[in-house]
Amino acid sequence: MTLPSELIRPEIAALSAYHVPPSNGLIKLDAMENPYTWPQAMREKWQDRVANIALNRYPDPHANALKESLRNTFAIPQSQSLLLGNGSDEIIQLLAMALAKPGAKVLAPEPGFVMYRMIATFTGMQYVGVPLNGDDFSLDMPAMREAIGKHDPALIFIAYPNNPTANLFDDADIDEIISLANGLVVIDEAYFPFAERSYLAGLEAHPNLLVMRTVSKMGLAGLRLGYLIGDQQWLHEFEKVRMPYNINVMTQAAAEFALAHADEFDRQAAEIRDERTRVGLALAEFEHLQVFPSAANFILVRVNRGAQVVFDHLLANGILIKNLATAGGALDQCLRITVGTPEENDALLSALASAV
Ligand SMILES: *Cc1c(COP(=O)(O)O)cnc(C)c1O
Repeated sequence: MTLPSELIRPEIAALSAYHVPPSNGLIKLDAMENPYTWPQAMREKWQDRVANIALNRYPDPHANALKESLRNTFAIPQSQSLLLGNGSDEIIQLLAMALAKPGAKVLAPEPGFVMYRMIATFTGMQYVGVPLNGDDFSLDMPAMREAIGKHDPALIFIAYPNNPTANLFDDADIDEIISLANGLVVIDEAYFPFAERSYLAGLEAHPNLLVMRTVSKMGLAGLRLGYLIGDQQWLHEFEKVRMPYNINVMTQAAAEFALAHADEFDRQAAEIRDERTRVGLALAEFEHLQVFPSAANFILVRVNRGAQVVFDHLLANGILIKNLATAGGALDQCLRITVGTPEENDALLSALASAV
């Protein structure tokens, strides 16, 4: 019998699967989820709605009603098209599948969102990571100019704000990258409810620009829904590699329902932004912590030493965060903390007080 190692592509065999740590019973501050659930009245309305979903039917392959809700809720210009994905992860995969000519490259700043690299590998694209400036995680523009000139990437991802560093890159730097690039530039606005900044308005002027978003971080991570906004000429091509029923009936119905209650999500995002400020100031009081500025719903901190010890201590106290120190390099001794409810954040701060 043939062994897996003989048939599996070597670059896949060399990977480890994306690891999600167990979180049962823990205060979960590791994955940028919104900690809030829905008010009782909204839940009851949803229950009525869910009872009428036709599970026996295939979903609308174009999800037209949902697209209309997205357009109205987020003021997406009529001049721009929409493509939906099973999370923005799937959109990254669709882009890569369509662009993966032999030798084609994906470029992104590093440290950045790990899926850009992983999906480039899955699809046989070459990945070019360009280090950010080490002190403040801003774009290293001399390095970006050189890498874009040398590699001529088909696809550039700019997360705005960036994960895991939480900062917004400089708009003038991003504008320069957009004008330098021959290929596509995707601005990944996964954290737009917390950043309150967007490149939507730039789409009209730049046909090689696409804006990618998700409903995950605003409070619907369980639905798996991402959307790509941009020129119809591009989206028309990416539609060809999209599975026709990638957005299931439950997700279409739930997302439409949620968007009809967008004010509730706005309220939750405002609470999370207030807590981000409060937790950021409280963290800055710790002598052994360096706190980086955040435009997202998480905060990056550097411990002066022993990130693993702090992580373990929090875990022993029932709090799960993300230890980035294992990656080394620019994230040496760094921890990523998702902003939770005021009670969860208080638990984090008091467990930290006994750790550092
Ligand atoms: C979380 C995250 C995503 C993934 O979003 P999904 O829609 O849940 O797949 C994409 N980009 C960045 C930068 C993220 O942090």
